Formats: sequence, C-alpha cells, structure tokens
Amino acid sequence: MIIGVPQEVKNNEFRVGLTPGNVSGLCKQGHTVLVQRGAGEQIGLTDESYRIAGASLIDSAAEVFHKAEMIVKVKEPQAQECAMLREDQILFTYLHLAPDPKQTKALLDSGATCIAYETVTAVNGALPLLAPMSEVAGRMSIQAAASHLEKTHGGLGVLMAGVPGVSPAKIVILGCGVVGRNALQMAVGMGADICIFDRDIDRLRQIDMHYGNRVRTFYSDNLLIEQEVCEADVVIGAVLLPGGAAPKLVTHEMVKKMKPGSVVVDVAIDQGGCFETSRPTTHADPTFLVDDVLHYCVANMPGAVARTSTFALTNATYPFVEALANRGVMKALSIDHHLRNGLSVHRGGIALSHGSKLLLDTIHAWPTECADIHRVHVSQAGRFGRALMTREELNQEALGHIIRYRDIHMTLRQTLRSIQDKSTHFKWLHIGKEDNPVSTNAKCIVHAEGGLFKTQDWVESGRDYGQSALVGLVEVENAAPYQAWERFTSEGPLAVLPSHYGPHILNLVWCGSPESSQQRLQLSDTDFLESLQKEFGSRIGRFLKIQDRRLYELGLNYRKEITKDNEVWIGNAAQTLHPVAGQGLNLGLRDAFLLAEKLVGVFSGAAENQTPGDIQHALESYAQSRKVDRTTTIGLTDFMARVFTSNLAPVVIARGLALSALQWLPPVKTALARQMMFGRR
Ligand SMILES: Cc1cc2nc3c(=O)[nH]c(=O)nc-3n(C[C@H](O)[C@H](O)[C@H](O)COP(=O)(O)OP(=O)(O)OC[C@H]3O[C@@H](n4cnc5c(N)ncnc54)[C@H](O)[C@@H]3O)c2cc1C
Repeated sequence: MIIGVPQEVKNNEFRVGLTPGNVSGLCKQGHTVLVQRGAGEQIGLTDESYRIAGASLIDSAAEVFHKAEMIVKVKEPQAQECAMLREDQILFTYLHLAPDPKQTKALLDSGATCIAYETVTAVNGALPLLAPMSEVAGRMSIQAAASHLEKTHGGLGVLMAGVPGVSPAKIVILGCGVVGRNALQMAVGMGADICIFDRDIDRLRQIDMHYGNRVRTFYSDNLLIEQEVCEADVVIGAVLLPGGAAPKLVTHEMVKKMKPGSVVVDVAIDQGGCFETSRPTTHADPTFLVDDVLHYCVANMPGAVARTSTFALTNATYPFVEALANRGVMKALSIDHHLRNGLSVHRGGIALSHGSKLLLDTIHAWPTECADIHRVHVSQAGRFGRALMTREELNQEALGHIIRYRDIHMTLRQTLRSIQDKSTHFKWLHIGKEDNPVSTNAKCIVHAEGGLFKTQDWVESGRDYGQSALVGLVEVENAAPYQAWERFTSEGPLAVLPSHYGPHILNLVWCGSPESSQQRLQLSDTDFLESLQKEFGSRIGRFLKIQDRRLYELGLNYRKEITKDNEVWIGNAAQTLHPVAGQGLNLGLRDAFLLAEKLVGVFSGAAENQTPGDIQHALESYAQSRKVDRTTTIGLTDFMARVFTSNLAPVVIARGLALSALQWLPPVKTALARQMMFGRR
C-alpha cells in the first residue's frame, strides 16, 4: 500500500502521523511511505531520518494526497485537506466529527473511508488511541491552569500549592476518565485542594482507595457541581462521551457566579466542550474572558508538547496502521471490531439486482467485494402478512448483492481507462460550472448528472412522498447471514441489508416523515437502537450499535421525454425514485447499457458516414425500447412507496393479504422477483 504522511496544517500543530521507526517497519513489509518534506523537522524528526528509514520525501501535501492510498495524520483534516481526499482513499486520524457538521459533510462528499482514532476501542471498552493524548492533555491541563492563575497571565494571582499559612488553589475536576485521572495526579503532586466528579461510582471508589482523604470525590449532580464550581480557583473540564458531543455540565449561569480571575481549562473542547461558555482557541491565542473568568480552550493541547505526543500517539496507532496496510481496509475492518468502531465516515452499500451484476460482468466492472442476498423477508410492523423469497425458489445464484457505490465508480473508471488506452476517440472532459463554462463539439450529449430528489434543478412529473430516508450501519447480534429484511412501518419502509463488514454489520435504510427522521438522526445511539428495536421486533436479533447516520429526502421525479434531438437523459437525470424497492441504480444501469448498444450501432461505422439523423434515429429507438421497463419500474416503485405507507384500514388489510398471497402463490412471487431482478428488456 502507498501510505502518505502530510505535514499538519492546523495552527501550532507539530505532531506527525508516523515516526521514522514506524516508516521503517512499514517499508520492511513492502509498503511505500510518502512523507511530506519538513513534516517532523520542528520536533527533531528530520527529513534525513525519514529518508534513512525508507520514506520517499515529497515536496507538497497535494502530491502526498494525490499519490497515497491511505493518509495517516494527527488532527482532523482542514477544508483544503478534505478537498484533496478521494473516494478510493482511507483517512486514519483524529476526526472529532460530533461538533463539526461542516467537516462531516466535506468528508462525506470526498467519498473517502475515514477512521477516527478517538472511537477505536480496546477489549475493556477503553479508547486506546485517545488515551495517550488524554494522558498528555490531562497532565498539561494543570500546568496550563497553574500558569494562567498567575496575575501576569490574567489570573487571580494564586499559587497552586499555596505556602505554609496560605491555602492552596481549589481545583474542581469534572470527569474521572483518563484526562481527569492524569489531571488529578498532577494536581495532587502540586499540592492543590482537589475535588473530582464522576457518575461512575467504581471510579470514584478507586480514587478514594488510592488518594484517601487527600481528594474529595462527588457523584456528578448539577447542584453539587454548581456549589463546588462557584468556589473554585480552577475548573478542569474532562468529560468525554465516545464519538458524541461533550455534555455541557457548567452553564453560563454557573460561570457568572465564579470568582473573577478564576481559570477554566476545557480539555473536552475537541468534542464541543463541557462549559456552555467554551469556544475553541489556539496555542497562539489560548485564552478569552467570559464574565471575568479566564477560559483556556486550546483544541490541540498535546500539540504543544509535540515530540512527546507524537511518540505516545504512534505507539498506539501503529499496530492499526500496519493492519490496514497489510490487510486492506475492508478485511482489517471486518476482522477487528475494535478498529471498525473507529469507522466514522463511509459511503454505505447499495443493493443491486442479480440482473445488474450480469450486466456489469459483461464489461468486467463488477467489484470484487460484495455481500450477497440469498433471502428477503418482507413483513408489516404490528400487522399480519409476511413473505419470504429465497434464491433457491428462483433458481438464482443470489437475489441481489450489496456493493459500495464507490466500488462501482472505481471499477467503471478502470474499465474506462482500459478503453482509453485502446481508443483514439475517447477523451476526458471536465464540465465547468456556470462561472467557468466549457464548450465542446459533440455529436450526442448524454445527461447522466443524476442527483437526489429536491436537489435537482429540474422538476417535471412526480410526487413528494413527505419522507426522508435515514441510512447507517447497524450491528446486530446473531444476524442471519445473507438475509435482507424489508419491514413496512406506519411511517415508511424499513430495510436492513447485508454489508461487507461481516455477518453482524448490516446496512440500514429507515424511511419516515422528515420530522421523525430528523429526530432519529439526533437521538443518542442508545435511544436510537431502542426505537429501532421497537419498530423491528425481535425476529432479526438484538441491535447493538449504530454508525454513520445520514438523511436523504425522498420523492419521485421523472422526465416524460428522455430524448430531444441529439440529447438523451439516463439514470437519475431521467428518473429519481423512492428507494423502497432498491431500483434506482438498477434502472439507470439498464438505461446506460441499452443506450450504449444503440449508439454503438451508429458510431461503429466510419465517422464521415454518420449523419445527425442517424444519431437522432438511434436515440428515438432507445427511448422507445426503454418505455416498458421505465414505466413498469417507476409505476411499481411509486405504488409500493404509497401503498406500503398508507394506514387506512382497508389498505392495511389488503397489504397483509397481498403479502400472504405472495408467500402462497409462487408464480406471483416469481414474476415480481424477476421484474425486480431483471426489469423489462
Ligand atoms: C437512501 C437511498 C437509497 C438507495 N438505495 C438504492 C438501492 O439499494 N439500489 C438502487 O439501485 N438504487 C438505490 N438508490 C438510488 C440510487 O442511488 C440512484 O438511482 C443512483 O445513484 C443514480 O445514479 P446516477 O449515476 O444516475 O446519478 P448519481 O449517482 O447522482 O451520479 C451522478 C454523477 O454526476 C456528477 N455530476 C453532476 N453534475 C455534474 C456536472 N455538471 N458535470 C459533471 N458531472 C456532474 C455527480 O457528481 C455524480 O457523480 C437509493 C437512493 C437513496 C436516496
């Protein structure tokens, strides 16, 4: 694998993703490591030391991002870095996405597979890649507090340890995790008067056993926090919820009651902070005042001790880098659920019919990694009527396949490249936007610019279903392998489909009203899983975990005419469907294949023999041939989207009867399945 290590670009960030020792280990295993020149110079890791270790030194970050298959960094990527990421790349770094929707969107747009250090887990539920930086930040928080308590740094003018006859500083530590315990260790060493809060009594017991009366321990309760914070000289915010935003334990009202000149150090600022008054600052300008309370909210505290931090971090990250490089991302994620817990941004799977697989096979564009569907279980939530379709009944290798969308992009791109090598007629063209238009001569224009419902700048015929789809990856205990589930709920269809990440990790598509989908998006993981379980029942198994939730608005938008002169519209540019039957891309692929067949007939002759009339004729013939498949698939999808969400009693009963009929009338089941799998050609 080609692994890239760019220089960090965040303010005062001198840490590096890999040390020369790590580079040497990777190179010995046959990998190529590209290190941006100067990446480690500031902390004594010279270009020469990387070169001796086997790295290739690269002049610019752009080149590192361009050439590498995996980028290993330290801090979350900045806007200019997100823009350089590609869909076939892995990004392994801290992400801290919870408080940063902008970065989340930029990463999703890039299509890269992003694994966050901070949510990778260990056997005991600990966060092994966060722990080393938490140790550093926890220890530094007391150093920072001690110096900012000094008058010259804007503080109250209090010496942390006091002196004989004068009380030491009073420190409140919120949170008893790795940061809190390390802060506590330093604060005890400096002789401060300390109390520490947590909701985990066992942790408080351990502190009590270890420090005895030296430290006061408190169960985290709002009133007690307010009481202690108001009397404190220093408050350390050290509360972290894995992968989520930090809870705001200290309100603005509490800050108003604190002593002027007292200091708060918000170590949880990377996760949004646990003071209502916090906002991220930098080492260059680390503090600000709110109601005369000095706030130190540096987002990358360990960056200040970058050399110590680099070695502490890479000691923990290196085994995972090695696993990703040696096994490839999918294999590494599927066999190590702790690493998989770090998966934060990833384009999910899409269901393709067996018919689409056969089409893509003909041009060698079927991705090697896919998850097969052998059975589909269809049911209604809380009502009678269910059906099971199996591959055996239909005498097919599989009913469908789940692939990653980006994998088809990649295989198609490879196929195009191989054609380009052989063909003199093929040329890549970058279409400019309105502010940067491009003109070209073409005999035929194929509109394949797709898009999603409500984002398209054309609306012709269709329907707004008033629904959104929430998609994500869900972990299920004892999930039946190769099985897809489609369940019709009162708000919309709910599908759970296999994925590449092993039998327990499934793709979820949950359709509902825009309001409830938005609420579900914002629920905590626990509440989300509880409501999903309620909707699904116990047949599927116990839902254990949800990752990478995203929303899409749903509707039907289709063109009545798909050709005009020498222009043709295919895929979502011609019709955008509800995903209820997973037909959109299947239909688009059939569009593309038939169009290619028709055009080949025209373009295979000598160029001088082609007339605009021939092309127009081929397009008209194409439109004619697509009529039945388009009408049937659009009609069937629209029918299912509406009928399966109606709560009218007669419709509910008819739906139950239809599902039962499907179960007991094999010819009906076979006809429907064949339409879904192969369309009408
Ligand atoms: C939640 C959800 C689940 C779905 N599940 C399934 C499923 O399981 N199975 C299935 O078959 N379908 C499914 N679909 C539908 C499927 O995603 C779409 O039908 C399919 O992606 C359409 O492909 P397309 O190539 O036509 O359009 P797109 O996927 O939108 O691709 C269009 C491409 O054109 C590019 N582009 C746009 N404008 C320009 C321009 N001006 N110049 C150059 N390039 C441009 C875009 O960047 C993009 O790469 C689902 C849809 C949703 C919303």
